Order: sequence, then C-alpha cells, then structure tokens
Amino acid sequence: MPLLYLDHLASTPLDPLVFEAMLPWWAPGAVGNPHAAHAAGWRAADAIEEARAEIAALVGARPGEVVFTSGATEANTLALLGATPPGGVCVVSAVEHASVLECLPELRRRGHRTVTVAVDGDGTIDLAALERALGGGTGPALVSVMAANNEVGTVQPLAAVTALARRHRALVHSDAVQAMGTRVVAMPALGLDLLSLSGHKLNGPMGIGALVVREGVRLVPPSQGGGQQRGRRPGTLPTPLCVGLGVACRLARARAAEDGRRMASLRDRLWALLSGALPGIRRNGAADGLAGCLNVTIPGMDAADLLLGLPELALATGSACHGDRAGPSPVLLAMGRSAADAHASLRFGLGRATRAEEVEEAAARLIAAVRTAGASPP
Ligand code: PMP
Repeated sequence: MPLLYLDHLASTPLDPLVFEAMLPWWAPGAVGNPHAAHAAGWRAADAIEEARAEIAALVGARPGEVVFTSGATEANTLALLGATPPGGVCVVSAVEHASVLECLPELRRRGHRTVTVAVDGDGTIDLAALERALGGGTGPALVSVMAANNEVGTVQPLAAVTALARRHRALVHSDAVQAMGTRVVAMPALGLDLLSLSGHKLNGPMGIGALVVREGVRLVPPSQGGGQQRGRRPGTLPTPLCVGLGVACRLARARAAEDGRRMASLRDRLWALLSGALPGIRRNGAADGLAGCLNVTIPGMDAADLLLGLPELALATGSACHGDRAGPSPVLLAMGRSAADAHASLRFGLGRATRAEEVEEAAARLIAAVRTAGASPP
C-alpha cells in the first residue's frame, strides 16, 4: 500500500528543483573547499554566496547577516546561548521547540535568569505576562518566540512581541522554521533581531539551516577554530547543502502565498471530513494558524495505538521532534490540555505536493480505524 505522507511538519521531501541544483555539487569532480584560495574554492564560495543571498531575500535580511548552521536545533541553540546579553535575562514562550526550551538550564548554569511565559488555550503567548517578565528593571534581555508552532500550528503575534520588547530594549529571536514555506516572515518589518530556519522543513535538504543575525547583534560563537562565517559559526561549509537551502528559499519566496492558500483549503477540507464523521473530535490550536497543520484530539482514543494499526498513514502524535520520548506533548499541556487528551491527539502536516485525494483517503482510513476501535464517542 503506498504511503500517505502527511507528516510535513516533521520533514518535507526535497523539491525536485532543489535536488537538481544540488546534484552537480555532489559529483566527484566538484572538489574544492569553499574557503580555499584557488579556482575550485572560489567557484564553491560563489555558489554559497548566491545561496546566502536567497536566504537573506526570503526574510528581508542582508546576505552578510546569514549564518549557516547544521539545522534549526543548532541555530536556536546558537541564538539563545550566543545572543543572550552578558548578565541578561532570557524570556521564552512555554510552547517553544525543545531546542529552545532545553537551552534554559544551560543558561541558568551560566548565571542567567530565565523566564517562561504562559500561553492561552490556543497556544498564543500571553502578552501581558511577557510585559511583566520584561518590566521592572529586568535589564538586558533576549526574548525568543517562535513564528508558528510545530505541533498545533498557532501563529504568534510577532509584531506585538517585538514592539513590546523594543520598549524594554530587549533583543528578539524567532524560531521561524515552520512558517517559512507558507508565510512571509520579514525581519525588518517585524523588528526581529535573530531568526532560525531549517532546510528540511521547506523542501530543502536535511542537515542545513541558518541563523539570521541582524548586523550589530553580538553573537558568541559556539565553537573555536577557523574564521569561517566571520567567526560567528566556524567550520567548513557544505557546498551542496548550502546550494540546496538557497534554492529552497528561492522557491519558498516565489510559492509561499500560493502554497499557503492551497494547503489551508486542504486542511479545512480535512477538518470538515473528520469533524463531520467523528462526534466529540476537537481541534487544537488557532483556526487561522499554519496552513499545513491540523492537530486534533479524539477523546478516549490512544493515538499511538491507532497509528500502529495504520502503518501506511504517516502522521504524528505529539511532536515528531520528541523522538522516542513518550510523554504527553508539553505544548498541549501548556495549552491546558490533560495528559489523557494529549495522548488522544494526532497531528496532520500537509505539504506543497499534498493532493486532495490523499487528504480524503487519509481521513477515510482514520475514521474507519477510529470506528473499529470503538473509541468514537456516541
Ligand atoms: N524548531 C521547530 C519549530 C521545529 O519544528 C524543528 C524540527 N522539528 C526544529 C526547530 C529543529 O529543526 P532541525 O530539525 O533543523 O534541527
């Protein structure tokens, strides 16, 4: 049975155009350290600079502000550990990705204060609580609030976050990984100082991402040795991956609006099918959230058990990023859901190439499985 892949929030397939653009750089003849001072090195360096310009264009930044990383986990870690001001406070929302939240203990070990700001039932940050966290002479601060949540799709009010942060002279970082393929995240218009993105979430390659750092923001490098990327993230750059990320960003810039519209209409169709057939089903996250995301709770059902019986259906329970950690999703708990509800929750992630028939087929199979399991409330 062909795989029905609806897990695009965990990873997206390579766009064929990205694949094609990367191929020559994997070929045996494509030797050349992009930092070497000879023709092969310069060719690679030129290709990387072209990619840097595409990434910058996607977020309204300057090419020199783009720092390549191995992905968004590294970009987020670099932002938090590298840009929290000396002696300053780090303020994050309660629904950030683990790669942000798990920096907090390390920051505390380094003597920083950290504050986690609550969210409402949809997963939207409580701006009054953010204001309290930054008020009262907190001193220098870094605020990290994601553009859109990877489990429930809720889009955060970044312009309001940055306006508030600016009044308190705090820097703002946003993990924009999930928003890049379907929404515009323009750093200057939003007033962002740092932004993380990841190749494999926008039809680009795995193993590459970027932290975009506004000129003038101080960043402590994560490792020593080699002056690459102006010392902000030393290490030899992987030419094929950088090229792939650049093309993925160019495609995203051209296609985000159209992809977003199409995916939102498929998502709404999926919700209509599920809610029409499964009484008691609930939707998690704001209805106007990420175009490709639908997170639902089917009360009384064990989502993991249900998916075991549907191996051809690629969906997520909780967040795929939590690997084999089986606890209830911290995001759903932060939104006030019970552990039982979290275990009864499923996440659909639609992608650029998802077709209406796939959505309909997935809904039909899930509905049948729920009915068979007898978990659908009367
Ligand atoms: N942030 C968010 C919101 C994510 O969804 C993910 C991946 N699930 C990451 C960060 C980590 O990205 P990467 O896989 O590139 O390390």
